[in-house]
Amino acid sequence: MVNLVLDIICWGKYMKLDDSITSLAGIGPKKAQYLDRLGIHTIYDFITHFPRGYEDNRLVTPIADLEAGEIYTVLGKILYVNERKANRRGMTILNAGISDGTGILGITWFNNKYLKAKLKIGRKLFVTGKAAYAYGGQGSFEMSQLRSFQLLEDNDDGAGACRIVPIYPATAGLNQKFFSDTVKKILSDSQGLEELLPDWIIRRNSLMGRRDAYWHMHFPETMELLAEAKKRLAFEELYFIQCGLMLLKKRTVEANKGICHKVNGALVHKIEQSLPFKLTGDQMKAWHEISNDMERVTPMRRLLQGDVGSGKTVVALLALIKTVENGFQGALMAPTEILAHQHYDAFTELLDGTGIRVGFLTGSLSKKKRGAVYESISRHELDIVIGTHALIQDGVSFASLGLVITDEQHRFGISQRAMLEKLGDAAPDVLVMTATPIPRTMTLTIYGDLDVSLIREMPPGRKPVRTFLRGQEARANVYKYMRQQLEKGRQGYVVCPMIEMNEESDAISAEEVYEELSTGIFAGMSCGLVHGKLSAAEKETVMDAFHAGEIKLLVATTVIEVGVNVPNAIMMVVEHAERFGMAQLHQLRGRVGRGVYKDTEPYCVLISGGRYGKYSERLKIMESTTDGFILAEEDLRLRGPGQFFGSMQHGLPDLKVANVLEDIDILLKARDAAIDTINNPSALAGVLPVLEYKLRNHFEKITES
Ligand code: ADP
Ligand code: MG
Repeated sequence: MVNLVLDIICWGKYMKLDDSITSLAGIGPKKAQYLDRLGIHTIYDFITHFPRGYEDNRLVTPIADLEAGEIYTVLGKILYVNERKANRRGMTILNAGISDGTGILGITWFNNKYLKAKLKIGRKLFVTGKAAYAYGGQGSFEMSQLRSFQLLEDNDDGAGACRIVPIYPATAGLNQKFFSDTVKKILSDSQGLEELLPDWIIRRNSLMGRRDAYWHMHFPETMELLAEAKKRLAFEELYFIQCGLMLLKKRTVEANKGICHKVNGALVHKIEQSLPFKLTGDQMKAWHEISNDMERVTPMRRLLQGDVGSGKTVVALLALIKTVENGFQGALMAPTEILAHQHYDAFTELLDGTGIRVGFLTGSLSKKKRGAVYESISRHELDIVIGTHALIQDGVSFASLGLVITDEQHRFGISQRAMLEKLGDAAPDVLVMTATPIPRTMTLTIYGDLDVSLIREMPPGRKPVRTFLRGQEARANVYKYMRQQLEKGRQGYVVCPMIEMNEESDAISAEEVYEELSTGIFAGMSCGLVHGKLSAAEKETVMDAFHAGEIKLLVATTVIEVGVNVPNAIMMVVEHAERFGMAQLHQLRGRVGRGVYKDTEPYCVLISGGRYGKYSERLKIMESTTDGFILAEEDLRLRGPGQFFGSMQHGLPDLKVANVLEDIDILLKARDAAIDTINNPSALAGVLPVLEYKLRNHFEKITES
C-alpha cells in the first residue's frame, strides 16, 4: 500500500522506487557491481545520487579572451581535423581546431574511433575545458582538459547546449554520461514520483513540486531553480525526520502512562549531602530540570549534554536515587565494559551503607551469572543495574523500571533509544547523556524528540589540559618528561591507534609501544597494556590496577576513549595523533586533568607521525582550544556533516540534500510543519503511510558499537 506513493512507470514498465537498479534496461551485473560500490542498489538510490557540483556552461567566451589555466566554454566552427597514430600499440590522437572569428582553439581526443567521421569541417562544436597555451603559434590556445563537448546541428545557435551540466562523483567504470542519461530516462519517463508532502505544507512554504525538484537537482535550467530544488528536497528530508521523531515520542507517551515521581525526599537529600563536593551551578540546574521532569506524568525524554569531565555522572546518580526512593528500579547503560565497570565501582562506593542494591550486567558474564542477574532484576532484588548493551537484550525484564539512563549517547541510535522503553511495562523516564557537543541544528535533527539540559561549567579548580603538538623527533624528550612526572607519583596514558593486522602502516601498535617503553625509558616502573583484543576479565584486571595506582603508565588503544575516570592521571601522550578524529582526541584528552592539582598542570602531547611542520589543520586546532563546542564546529566545518556523523553518530537518518549546518532556516520551518502535522489527526493520517515507510526503511538500522 505504501509503495503506491513511491511508484513510477519507467519505459512503460511498472516499477517501484525500491526496485533493484538492475530492473532498468541497460544495467546488467557489471554496472550493478560498480553501482554497488557507491551504495546504489535501488532506483531510488539512483535518483538520489545527486551531482557533487555543476558546471555552468551558459557563458560562452570568445577565444580571444581566453586565459591559460581557466575553465571556459567556447562555441566555434570546425576549421580542420586530423588523426594520427601515436605509438605502436595503436593509440590514435584526433586533433581538431575551431574558430569563432576571434581566434583558433585546438582540441584533442585520444582513442575516439567513432568521432572522426562526425567532425565535418564547418560544423558547429561546443566545448568546455581548461585553456592552455598551444605549442604552435603565438597566442593560440588549446583545451588541455576537455570536460565536455557537443556537436551542434547547423541551424542550432547553441542556446540549448548552453546549460548547467551536472557533475557526478567520479566512479571507476561509469562515466558522467551514464549517470545523466539514466537519471534523465528515469525522471522523464516516469509518471510517478508523486507528491509526498501535503498541499498545505507546500503552499505555506512555497515549495517546488517533488518531481520538478528531482529534475532540477540533476538538470537545473538556472541556478535559482537549483536552489529551489535543493530547498524543497532538504525540507522533505527534515520534515519526515522531525515527523518520525515526534511520532515515536507521541506513541510512547500515549501507549504508556508515565511514572510520577514524588518530590525529593530524605534519601535523595542524604546522598546529595554526602557527596565529596558541592554541585556546580550548571549541575544543579540540570539536576532540577531532570527532577522536575521525573515528577510529571509525561515520561521524561531528556538529553544531558556536557563537555568531557563536566560531571554528568553524579547528576545521573542523583536521578537514579530518586527513582529508587520512589520504589522503582533504575538502569544505567554505558557503551563499553570498562566504563560500565567504572560506574559500578563508583556507585557501590558512594552508596555503601545506604542499603541500595546495585547490580552489574554485561555480555561477558557467564551464562549462569547472567541468568542470576536477570532473576534479581525481574524480582526487584536489585535497585540500580549498571551495564552495557546487554541491558537491552531479550531476557531482561525489570519488575518496575522507573528510569533509564544511557551514558555517552552518541554511541546509541534512535532505535536503540526506542528499545530502552520496552524494558518495563510503564514508560520509564529516559535520560541520555553525551559529552559530544553538538550544534543546535544537529541536536534538533538527531534528538528532535528530546529536551536538552546543558552543563557548560567545569568543576572548580580544573585546569585546562595543555596540549602540545610534536613531531617524531621530539618523541624521546616527551617520554623523558613524562617519566619525571610519574616519578612524582602521578599516572599517565599513552594512546596508540588501532592497527588492523593486514594494514601496511608505519604506525606502531599498542603492543610494540608497550614493549618499547616498559623495557626502555620506563624500565623499573609498573606499566600496563589494555586493548580491544583482551578479554573482559583481563581488561578489568588492568583497569583496576590503574585505578588503584598500582600501574603508573597505561598504554592503551581507544578502548579508554570514553568516560574513564582516574583523577591522578596527569599526562597523556597520543602516538600518531593524525590517525584520530578531533572528537576522539578531545574525548581522549578528557581522561587527564580530572582532579585538582596544586603543583602541576595536566598535559596532553599529540605526536604526529610525520615531522614537525607537517601537522594537519585538525591537530593545530586541537592544540589551540579545549572548548568542546568550538572543536565540534571546526570538526564539522573541516569534514562536512556526512563524515562527521558517519564516524561518530549512529542513528542519524541518511541526509542526501539537507545540510545540518547551513539549513537551520529550512529545519525550523520543517519542524513547525511537523508539529502541526502531528497535532492534527487528519493531517497525520495523510502522511502516515509515507512516514511509516520511512521509519521502516530510511531511518537507521540498529548498530552495535
Ligand atoms: P563526565 O561529565 O565526563 O562524565 P564525570 O562525571 O566522570 O565527568 O566527572 C569527572 C570528575 O569530576 C569526577 O572525578 C567527578 O568526581 C568530579 N566532579 C564532578 N562534579 C564535581 C564538582 N561539582 N566538584 C568537583 N568535582 C566534581
Ligand atoms: Mg562520563
